[in-house]
Amino acid sequence: MPTQFASPYRTHTCGELRATDAGKPAQLSGWVNRRRDQGGLIFLDLRDRHGITQVVIDRTDAPAAHEAASKVRGEFVVTVAGQVAKRLEGTENKRLPTGEVELQGTDLTILNEAKTPPFYVNDPEAQIDETLRLKYRYLDIRREPMARRLLLRSQLVHAIRDAHHKAGFIEIETPNLIKATPEGARDFLVPSRLQPGNVYALPQSPQQLKQLLMVAGVDRYFQIARCFRDEDLRGDRQPEFTQLDLEMSFVDEAAVMDFVESMIIEVSRSVMPERPLQTVPFPRLTYAEAMDRYGTDKPDLRFGMEIVNLAAALTGPDGKPASGFRVFDDNLAAGGVVKSIAAPGMAGATRREIDELVESAKRLGAGGLAHLAVEETGTVKGPIAKFLGDDGAERLTAAAGATPGDLVLIVADTAKVANEVLGKLRLEIGTKLGLADDNVLAYEWITRFPMYEWDAENERWHATHNPFSGVLPEDEPLLVTASGDPYRPSPKDPAGKARAMQYDVVLNGWELGGGSVRIWRRDLLEKSLALQGHSAEAMHEKFGALLDAFDYGAPPHGGIAFGIDRWAALFSKQSNIREVMAFPKTQTGNDLMLEAPSEPEPEQLAELGLKFVGRRGSVAGPAGDGAAGTVENLA
Ligand code: ASP
Repeated sequence: MPTQFASPYRTHTCGELRATDAGKPAQLSGWVNRRRDQGGLIFLDLRDRHGITQVVIDRTDAPAAHEAASKVRGEFVVTVAGQVAKRLEGTENKRLPTGEVELQGTDLTILNEAKTPPFYVNDPEAQIDETLRLKYRYLDIRREPMARRLLLRSQLVHAIRDAHHKAGFIEIETPNLIKATPEGARDFLVPSRLQPGNVYALPQSPQQLKQLLMVAGVDRYFQIARCFRDEDLRGDRQPEFTQLDLEMSFVDEAAVMDFVESMIIEVSRSVMPERPLQTVPFPRLTYAEAMDRYGTDKPDLRFGMEIVNLAAALTGPDGKPASGFRVFDDNLAAGGVVKSIAAPGMAGATRREIDELVESAKRLGAGGLAHLAVEETGTVKGPIAKFLGDDGAERLTAAAGATPGDLVLIVADTAKVANEVLGKLRLEIGTKLGLADDNVLAYEWITRFPMYEWDAENERWHATHNPFSGVLPEDEPLLVTASGDPYRPSPKDPAGKARAMQYDVVLNGWELGGGSVRIWRRDLLEKSLALQGHSAEAMHEKFGALLDAFDYGAPPHGGIAFGIDRWAALFSKQSNIREVMAFPKTQTGNDLMLEAPSEPEPEQLAELGLKFVGRRGSVAGPAGDGAAGTVENLA
């Protein structure tokens, strides 16, 4: 990338010069990656985020520059002018794009000195304690891996913007100081100075605002939006994170999904041309199918090992359980399920490996885990084989989809437990056996989620995804309570069976995005909010603007939001979103570099009319102990 603007410091970046530039004058500026002093010659590897170029300074040709270069240390900022020359044959560096040339420096100025950094900035492979990386993030970002990932993230956002502009979307910024927009997490509150006693909430998402933009006639909106959720941090969570947020008018589920799918394909192909998309068009699974076949609503479809229901292979002609193995038969008779996965090539698993699998299954909530090995000869072996008989054992392993060499793992339990346990074992085994191709991008859609789940503690229905999600038209009659009083929800309500016009996008086993076609009629939204436990006053208090707006002509609308941090992490093959965020926080919510959060000045509190009455400190340790936290507890 040429430096297209005039600069007193450089004519080129450190990644730019090539053999065709030989003979030309050039000036480079950057950080000293390495210095080699060979007496009469000093070599400097000069680095900026674009690359590294070798500079050589000859004492005979340029005594003053040589003198200055002899004072230079790693990470000093220097500017060097001279002439580009081809390197002598045999001394080229094939690993560098600039490796065929060097800059023969005649003038060198030290622009700034640097202390010895706390870690090797010039070693991309160095294993560095993450606490140090976060404290000195500006040095960490100087390192090639972080610089590369931030560049990739920028390319991702650029491609997203391009795709939306092409499709007629308008980019609109919504405010960060708003009233709570719930997404199921705690709000971050900002006290108002001008209105003491009142607070703003930072948006958990721009959900209500984007819906209001649809009422405003914006038609197609998108935003790269910062969202704030005060929840306990996990590997893929941060208190503030970035969403691609979009909303469209006059759409049904298919219309949103069509646009979004084409946008994802366009973005993926432009940002990650070297990584194949596993299946196009993306597979579409209902929530029920995903749970049944993969035990999760975000299955990693890069490998098979599907969960199989063995009922047919275990029942006799009269439809009664008759496998001969009591645990299976009794469980089936009691309305449970017997399900399995077939682990490829694991028939030879040792006793210890099997014990470990059984332990895992129990830890995950199963009463036990049965197994049958299909040997290379086709013979089926395992402790339960004698109960099933040769035929029965073979019928079972065939139904499980096992081929010679496979180990069939079986759970007999409720459908919920069996799916969950086998789903997790599938993932553990898949990871251990390396079944998922690291390079492939496997996107899929999950649809038809339940609208609600019962929240026993608060005696209300809790929206599984989004309080404003629409209900499938055929399920609309289900949005009623058993009591007939819309404000008295109970677990017996038909609403528990209603399915949402909700769709999630999953990438390689990570939930990447989720959205829905919304409720866009006031009466229906009030019904749904009442089921969610809001009284008429409370819904007016919390969602009054949206409800009122629906009285002034709301178009049918729907949208979706994507975790940009997750997307960038998956594109850069990272398992933690901190690796694609410039300045992330630790698990205890600390910014180790700025040492935030910190105690406010007493005057600031006074101005806000606030007084601190709690116990000062942090989860990680004493107040101000910004550096608390090791790499383990950051994970
Ligand atoms: N606001 C939702 C979320 O943040 C996404 C959406 O439904 O558009 O998950």
